[in-house]
Amino acid sequence: MEILEDLFRIFFPKLCANCENHLTKNEEIVCTFCRHDMPLTDFINYSENKITKTFYGRIPLEKATALLYFRKKGITKKLIHELKYEGNEEIGAFFGNWIGEIIKENNEFSDIDFIIPVPLHQKKLKKRGYNQVLKFGERVSYYLERPLLEEVLIKTSTSKTQTFKDRFERLNTVDKQFYLNEVSILKNKHVLLIDDVITTGATLEACAKKIQKTEGVKISILTMAFTE
Ligand SMILES: [Zn+2]
Repeated sequence: MEILEDLFRIFFPKLCANCENHLTKNEEIVCTFCRHDMPLTDFINYSENKITKTFYGRIPLEKATALLYFRKKGITKKLIHELKYEGNEEIGAFFGNWIGEIIKENNEFSDIDFIIPVPLHQKKLKKRGYNQVLKFGERVSYYLERPLLEEVLIKTSTSKTQTFKDRFERLNTVDKQFYLNEVSILKNKHVLLIDDVITTGATLEACAKKIQKTEGVKISILTMAFTE
């Protein structure tokens, strides 16, 4: 079998999603060189970090971290674009494995009870074919050994372009876009909300506000990237 696999790889090599060099057997998505160039955050080591600052006064958070910095140019942006718009769903799993190993070793998120992905609206789900956060969530769930709840938080309406609204207007619209399907299961639990990129944080804020209505619930945030 292995010989067949090796042969297959010779004729159909997997390429690095960034530099397009051939990947070796042990490399996934990006080559080792490109992986070393990716800007990891060290947020996990700080109880107060750029994410907790972003949400300060908006939602109470237990902990928050992101794997990478999202910059105007760079590999993170390129990979997330591929994940969201070019059908490369496996990039989510790649990020999930990466942060999964970090959080497992670090132990900071060991008291999480459930993982909840920011949901996509049905229409968008149909168009894209997948929720780009799902594979990421599945890997995080694997490393934390906690269940991923897909059906608890639902997106009820599609968002039109948010660009021309001010922050207050945006929050108002976003707040009506999510619905908490099952409240009792989250009672007194610690929920890990996960998403792809934090920019303004408006979507995560709206999700957290819905979850927050549950008695005794605690919320933490984990994302693939954070916009610097
Ligand atoms: Zn590369």
